[in-house]
Amino acid sequence: MSIKSLIDRIDSDIVLSGPDVSELYAKDWSEEVPCKPDVVIQPRNTEDISYVLAQCQAHGQPVVTQGGRTGLSGGATPKAKEWVLSTEKLDKIISIDADAMTITVQAGVILEKIQNAASEIGLLFPMDIGARGSCTAGGIVATNAGGTQVIQYGMTRSLVLGLVAVLPDGTVLKAHNTLIKNNSGFDLKHLLIGSEGVLGVITEITFRLFPKRPIRKTALCAIPDFKKAQKLLKIAKTNFLGLSSFEIMWNDYFVAALDATNEKNPFNEMHPLYALIEVEEGQETGAFENVLMGAIEQDIVSGVIISKNENERQKLWTIRDGISEILPLLKNRIDFDLGIPSPKMEGFIKDVKQGLSEKFKDCKTLAFGHLGDGNLHLTVSIQNPNDKNDIEKLVFSLTKAAQGAITAEHGVGSLKRKWLSYTRSKEEIVLMQALKKMIDPADILNPRRVI
Ligand code: FAD
Repeated sequence: MSIKSLIDRIDSDIVLSGPDVSELYAKDWSEEVPCKPDVVIQPRNTEDISYVLAQCQAHGQPVVTQGGRTGLSGGATPKAKEWVLSTEKLDKIISIDADAMTITVQAGVILEKIQNAASEIGLLFPMDIGARGSCTAGGIVATNAGGTQVIQYGMTRSLVLGLVAVLPDGTVLKAHNTLIKNNSGFDLKHLLIGSEGVLGVITEITFRLFPKRPIRKTALCAIPDFKKAQKLLKIAKTNFLGLSSFEIMWNDYFVAALDATNEKNPFNEMHPLYALIEVEEGQETGAFENVLMGAIEQDIVSGVIISKNENERQKLWTIRDGISEILPLLKNRIDFDLGIPSPKMEGFIKDVKQGLSEKFKDCKTLAFGHLGDGNLHLTVSIQNPNDKNDIEKLVFSLTKAAQGAITAEHGVGSLKRKWLSYTRSKEEIVLMQALKKMIDPADILNPRRVI
């Protein structure tokens, strides 16, 4: 399609082409090969998107949707000939309702802005990830993002009440809903949530908000071995009703995070594992400190740092969030975001490390994750980029053997597409392909991603 025919119908302010297109649009945060698009469209509302997609479908013009481009699976990196549809101008909070505890936003609103808006009226938007300052509402919904508070509030899916999306032929799917319970037929929002932009462009979302509990307790625990980390998780789940995070870091990750963030080791020595635990309480109970001291007495934990104020809390989280500083420092990296059943996680890591060191030279791994959700993040940096496929095969074969998932929260995108059968049955893949074909017969929306 010629850009001219598009500009004639919509405001030229929302179309960038040629030299006006910045390099920023060429890639997301993943290791996917960058590709600068010829055209970037920046719609301001659902109607713009409906018109643009209908035109693109009529002319067979492929499009990739971009939110904050913090995705780690290559889903938002353009491929040759694709135009970019950026949600950056869809940046308005439409409404916020303290009584109903809901917020409705346009898709391009940055996650941190939603968190702040909720906080200003004494409520909590509990979705939180390291990319909070850049990722968008549409991006977290499209990828069904997880993050650090899933153990208490679930993944993004459980926070969405309703949404509006535009299908590839321009149809506006109004799946508005503000009710927690609504069993009137198929709940179609769930088809869009986690579909990584291959079925439609999400333009508006209504999220649930939660009461903000006034007291937040945070502790970093040093742990001698993985079995004890599992025991500590059980103790935390049993004793802390407000357990919102249980983040695990292996020593290799901990050291890299201290280096990358210039933070000092809060312990006097190194330990095999660390758990960052956070609990929200309605009132001061003293249970947090008592339970953790009990874990020390039982030798489950070798040391505990409990933050005394927000500054100390932020310092502990800086180490856990250090992945944002680590990633840009690593060349030739592969980011694995695996779902591994907790009882199998220790053996899995041992097998992966052994397999990698036997077959590949100078391969380094950093491991951390959300232990409470069985979500293991493994960043592998390699010497020879040609080894990438063999390393993925090794890790995903072990994942399959452990009955795990090749991606627990980042999504399949373009980088993990060929491995989908390691984690989904043939029947599931056939049905996914049929749905894609029905909704996007011309294959114009995020083609060659996910399926
Ligand atoms: P983008 O990267 O722009 O897009 C991601 C995918 O969603 C693409 O396929 C894109 O086409 C599609 N998409 C975007 N907007 C829309 C829309 N409006 N409609 C339809 N499709 C759309 N992820 C986690 O789950 N948990 C974490 O803890 C986590 N931590 C991270 C930490 C760092 C430092 C970084 C860089 C990333 C992290 N991520 C994490 C990954 C990433 O932040 C999430 O996947 C996030 O949801 C992507 O949002 P985005 O707006 O940047 O989307």
